[in-house]
Amino acid sequence: MSGRNFLYIPGPSNVPQRVRNAMAIEQEDMRAVDFPDFTLPLFEDLKKIFKTETGRVFIFPASGTGGWEAAISNTLSAGDKVLMSHFGHFSWLWVDMCQRHGLDVQALEVEWGEGVPFEKYAEILKADTNKEIKAVFACQNETATGVSSDIAAVRKALDDAGHPALLFVDGVSSVASIDFRMDEWAVDLCVSGSQKGFMLPTGLGIVCVSQKALAARESATLPRTFFSFDDMIGANDNGFFPYTPNTIYMRGLRESVDMLLEEGLENVFKRHNRMATAVRKAVEAWGLSLVAKHEELYSDTVSAIRVPEGFDGNEVAGHAYKYYNLALSISLGKIAGTAFRIGHLGDLNEMMVMIPITGAEMAMKDIGIPIELGSGVAAAQEYLRTTATPVERRS
Ligand SMILES: *Cc1c(COP(=O)(O)O)cnc(C)c1O
Repeated sequence: MSGRNFLYIPGPSNVPQRVRNAMAIEQEDMRAVDFPDFTLPLFEDLKKIFKTETGRVFIFPASGTGGWEAAISNTLSAGDKVLMSHFGHFSWLWVDMCQRHGLDVQALEVEWGEGVPFEKYAEILKADTNKEIKAVFACQNETATGVSSDIAAVRKALDDAGHPALLFVDGVSSVASIDFRMDEWAVDLCVSGSQKGFMLPTGLGIVCVSQKALAARESATLPRTFFSFDDMIGANDNGFFPYTPNTIYMRGLRESVDMLLEEGLENVFKRHNRMATAVRKAVEAWGLSLVAKHEELYSDTVSAIRVPEGFDGNEVAGHAYKYYNLALSISLGKIAGTAFRIGHLGDLNEMMVMIPITGAEMAMKDIGIPIELGSGVAAAQEYLRTTATPVERRS
């Protein structure tokens, strides 16, 4: 087999050569005297990615799911009332985890393709005059449906009700790709992982925590050991870890954070919006629609593309993989088969985003979906061509 497999799923994303080089190293002593020279600046720079000055960042050798567990187990107690919503596979999984931890979960069921129901949140929070709700959860980017939600609106719902609940955000497929503002939105816990916007393999759960959430651990009684913030803080303050950290991935993270800061976060977000827009131009030219219901919900990291009635979106992905060595993503759960997904996050530029557009077009044509070959490709080309700026190269 010559050439390569092309990966366009919404995580793991492509690992840039610079990051791979940074990880092609020997193992190292995580108790060496100079290890903190590496870790302490990394913690500081991660805060820039979350846009926080007052919070702190924890790195667990886990995935995003572990980050979720760290967030809830350190700050809540069994029986605590929490307000959540689900409108896709990932927002549902977090609900499931909270239920399994014995929290008293009020989970609003929202149609897939919609986002966080912040207006309903506002009503419920206003009605909670005894302030019994301990935490409010929001999935910033629902990866299953390609829906981005307005976290500032969730913060506003809390503020308008004068409500002290903690604000939890799932930022696994948004942080470092779509704007996220820990301090400005007064988010208390934001969970991310290494294999999406951070452009690394799976293996780090990255959690950003506010001072208010750190204080909440004093009274929180859910059990935690591996994910204990206390144990982490005790060691991290000196640049060390309470157990063996994933040093190789952390060296990769150092490189990916450098890449993000060199490009500039705002430029990173603009680039993601541009790549996503190219995909959306193609979808429109195909005469298809997205699972996301309204334009303001469109995700800049993943598009879930509906196929016409009578066709199977997962067959599009399967066919592209089998014949064109292209990994598109299947659709999950309630919408399984009705759509396929293109992940467009992380290490991506103009020519790279043309690959899944071209391949999806071929695969759709092959399985009989009535689209015109070249239509989506041309629309994306035209958009990218007419909005192009000179490539910034490293000197
Ligand atoms: C990928 C993802 C997760 C799960 O993360 P894992 O690293 O697979 O554990 C959670 N939430 C969202 C929104 C995701 O995209």
